[in-house]
Amino acid sequence: MTPNPLPLTPHVVGWDEIDDVLLDMDGTLLDRHFDNFFFEEELPRRYAALHGLQIEESRDKLMAMYRSVEGELAWTDLHYWTQRVGIDVVALHRELDHMIGFLPGAEEFLRYLRQIGKRVTIVTNAHESGVSVKVAKTGLDRHVDRIVNAFEVGYLKMRPEYWPNCQRLLGFDPARSLFMDDDEGCLVAAKQFGVAQLIHSAKSSSQLPPTPLAQFVSVTGFSSLLNGRPAT
Ligand SMILES: [Mg+2]
Repeated sequence: MTPNPLPLTPHVVGWDEIDDVLLDMDGTLLDRHFDNFFFEEELPRRYAALHGLQIEESRDKLMAMYRSVEGELAWTDLHYWTQRVGIDVVALHRELDHMIGFLPGAEEFLRYLRQIGKRVTIVTNAHESGVSVKVAKTGLDRHVDRIVNAFEVGYLKMRPEYWPNCQRLLGFDPARSLFMDDDEGCLVAAKQFGVAQLIHSAKSSSQLPPTPLAQFVSVTGFSSLLNGRPAT
């Protein structure tokens, strides 16, 4: 019997059938540990200090505020949060930018997409002020054709209205497009619009265990998307 020491990586994407690659930013390309830490740890800490609250009380108040605008543009609008919380959250992003970074393999994946000639667009729910801090820290913009934030489209990605508006803005053919995101709601909305290939990023944070989904191709890294041809 011939030994087979190298397990074959399953090929999950037929790249010949794809022209446009639409990629989420936080939790797909960039480590969502930054965002989780920012909104669940650091902002509650600052808010507690500002108002003389216990950390748990402060966190509960902020979580309730986040939920009150979930799914609306305000949810990710850093200017909105600066006003509502009374803390300059854009400045706080810059202060903590040492925690911003790529997920393992993300840069190699982006180089691979360049090599095989795909048009690559980052489609993010993030606010442009947050995108600017992350681009300045990582150079993410150099790897892609365009970064579109939800404010340019007018809706967040989990809303059905997002997709036809985004399609008009970018001019992609959904039947020849791939979309990758760590958020189930965003993938469901893209599926309903007819985006042909959907990939779930199951390992959104370096600090949390993977959270695979059954209804989508769910990956914990990028190796299965490189089709055996790692970028050089
Ligand atoms: Mg995400």
